[in-house]
Amino acid sequence: MKGLTPESVINLTPNVWTEPFWAAAAEHRLVVPRCTSCGTHRMPPTPFCWRCRHQDVEWEEHDGRGTLYSFTVVRHAVIPDVRDALPLIAGIVELPNTEGCRLVGNIVDCEPEAVRIGLGVTTDWYDVREGETVPVFRLA
Ligand SMILES: [Zn+2]
Repeated sequence: MKGLTPESVINLTPNVWTEPFWAAAAEHRLVVPRCTSCGTHRMPPTPFCWRCRHQDVEWEEHDGRGTLYSFTVVRHAVIPDVRDALPLIAGIVELPNTEGCRLVGNIVDCEPEAVRIGLGVTTDWYDVREGETVPVFRLA
């Protein structure tokens, strides 16, 4: 896969609210938390529903197809460890049918010149190390 952030700069720190997301990611499944009271999705996972303040969620599977909401091309190594990986494309992907939930991840295996806001993307998975996987996106 081309366009991956080096594993040395990725350090996941799951907590009680995000652990189910990362556990599913390690199995290459995308899940989105959904309020069990009012049905509103909330990503990133938060302790309280922004609509009704309920705390409980169910984790709903998502097919990972989305739309590129925004992106930036990283061409300067602010962190020295990423120097050999440049350019990197950091994207924000909006997931349909989730009240606008968005995920952040690298856009992989494409040239920066091919990337445009509004393009369709699919989710893929980058196994950083045992038990730690992050989402990445490919142009559809
Ligand atoms: Zn709610």
